[in-house]
Parts: sequence; structure tokens; C-alpha cells
Amino acid sequence: GSIDFSGQTTVVTGASSGIGAAFARELARRGSDVVLVARRRDRLEDLASELRARHGVRVTAAPLDLSEPGAGRRLAADLAGRGIRVDGLVNNAGFGTNGAFHQEDPDRLTDEINVDVANLVDLTRAFIEPLRDSGRGVLVNVASAAAYTPSPDMAVYAACKAFVLSFTEALWYESRGTGLRVLSLAPGLTRTEFFDRFEGGAYQGSYETPEQVVATAMRTLDRGRRPSVQSGRRNAVMVSLPRLFTRRR
Ligand code: NDP
Repeated sequence: GSIDFSGQTTVVTGASSGIGAAFARELARRGSDVVLVARRRDRLEDLASELRARHGVRVTAAPLDLSEPGAGRRLAADLAGRGIRVDGLVNNAGFGTNGAFHQEDPDRLTDEINVDVANLVDLTRAFIEPLRDSGRGVLVNVASAAAYTPSPDMAVYAACKAFVLSFTEALWYESRGTGLRVLSLAPGLTRTEFFDRFEGGAYQGSYETPEQVVATAMRTLDRGRRPSVQSGRRNAVMVSLPRLFTRRR
């Protein structure tokens, strides 16, 4: 059956758009209170109002820049200080730089590693004990189809996502018997703002919607038997994808 989230509190990072916003909507629809994390405060406030009005759940907007080292730890301390007990965590915030590695801006690469990996680990570590104690929450870490394939022009991104996949599958094993459901989610091409941040124009091919990706994740969590799931187009698409965006220099 489907997981009942009523009375739970789930933290969703990257909730200001795309897959994260879709996760927040689905969790709230299933009765979970949610903590919305991203940089764009106005987007978080708008979504918070929508979810309170539509589902009557408690929503906390938590504007935060996850490219800063220690940001995840500060969030956990802040929520604990406000008496918010956390049952679930969706580590979805992420972005990819797009270009030949030898031309990448080193500071951007550090930001990428902080958002996609370092703060994901910090947030998971900060919340894993309450998640296990809760016995009915979820931990979803958003990897990517890029984790499974060679990804020229996205070397650091693909490596970050391979980290997320491996890390999360290990935690799936460690969490057996606790009631905590753990999932590594690898979306294929999904229609979000993700590619707006790429130089070289928008990809024109077919995408899944964020709602389809979230439905795949929730179905897998409801069944509760697999450590990871891929959504959407096959991996082969990701091999050719970076070439579509390659910067001309
Ligand atoms: P979006 O760009 O629409 O969403 C990314 C989210 O991450 C936004 O809410 C953004 O919020 C947040 N974010 C980015 N940087 C930071 C930061 N420094 N601090 C806090 N929050 C941040 O893209 P998607 O919804 O597609 O991306 C969600 C996840 O899905 C990512 O991990 C991505 O790697 C992954 N993914 C996406 C695929 C796709 O085809 N779209 C394919 C495979 C994986 P804000 O800007 O307000 O901070």
C-alpha cells in the first residue's frame, strides 16, 4: 500500500522548482508537513502558501544556500532549535556545470561538489538518527542517469551523482529493519529549470515531467524493496546529451 505521511515532517531540498517542488506537493498531498529548502525565498513562500491552503499541512520555508560549507548542519541545528522533529529527507537540490573539464571555473566546481555531495552527506548525517528513530519516514537522494554512464562535459556532475548512488545504496542496506525507507532516484531527462542553467541553449528532445519522476519514486518507496530506481529515458541518452550543450570557445 501507499505510505501514510500524516503527522510526519519531511525536509525537501531544492524545493523552489522542478523535481523538488513536485516532491513537496506529493508529500503534502499525502499528509506530510514539509520544510522547503532552496535559495529563492519568494518561490518557497509561494509554494508554502499553496500547500497550506490546499492540504492544511504545516510548511516551513527555509531559505538556504547549499553551496556554502556547513549550510546543511546549520539547517539541522536551526530546525532542532525550533522544535521541529524530522521524519523524512529528500536530498534533491543539485545542479550541473557543463563544459570541458580543463575550462571549468574551479569555484563553480567547488560549489557543485558542495551542493550535490558535501551538504547532501551533512544533511543525511544530521538527520539519519531521527529518521531511523521515526521508523516510518523516507530518505530519498536524487542522483541521475548520468551516474551510470560516461558523461563528457559533465565530468564532475556525473561523478557527484555516482557518489550519491553508491552512498545511498549503502544506507539502504544499513537501514533494513529500521522502518526507514531509503531510495536513490536516477531521473533521465526531465523538464525543469535544470537545463536553463546550461550555456548553449535549450534541449529540444523529449522529457519526462517532474510529476512522472516523483510518481516513479513514490511507487518504489511504497513497495519498499529496492535501493535505487531509474526514471525516464534510457542511459544511452545521457551519453549524447552533453554534446548537445557543449560550449563553443
Ligand atoms: P531545477 O534547476 O529546476 O531545480 C534545482 C533545485 O535545486 C532548485 O530548487 C534550486 O533552488 C536548488 N538549488 C540549486 N543550487 C542550490 C544552492 N546553492 N542552494 C540551495 N538550493 C539550490 O532542476 P531539477 O528539478 O531538474 O533538479 C533537481 C535534481 O534532479 C538535481 O539534483 C538534479 O541534478 C537532478 N536531475 C535532474 C535531471 C533533469 O533532467 N532535469 C536529470 C537527472 C537528475 P534555488 O535556485 O532557488 O536555490
